[in-house]
Amino acid sequence: MPPDPFAGDPNDPASFLEPDDLYDGVDGPLSAEERDAVKEDLENVRCFRRLLEPRGVRGISMMCEECGEEHFYDWPIIIANLTTMLNEEAAPVHEPSAAPDPDRYVSWEYCAGYADAVDWMNSGPRAFHRRWL
Ligand SMILES: [Zn+2]
Repeated sequence: MPPDPFAGDPNDPASFLEPDDLYDGVDGPLSAEERDAVKEDLENVRCFRRLLEPRGVRGISMMCEECGEEHFYDWPIIIANLTTMLNEEAAPVHEPSAAPDPDRYVSWEYCAGYADAVDWMNSGPRAFHRRWL
């Protein structure tokens, strides 16, 4: 675990959870619906990683609702966070990697579009559907 950059900061974003933040919004036990959503995210992220890591993409960038800045999450961190949520342990919150290279991160929407395009090319137009969105 890297040191918490917000340790001792009264505005520590981890002290209040934003419901619309992608991975740290779930407080308490997950409902069956939330578990399914997390499982689906996990499946998608593994697929995105398989497609994009060989191309040099290190992870996903997300606009943070709390501080209004972009954060960069490496694939293993995203997968660990989702797995932690499924296991109903306290999720590690707000853990951007240290000194990331923004060029090596893409948005979730980029991943979804990329995966859809690969899917389409592999299976032909009939298989096209908005599975990732
Ligand atoms: Zn933030």
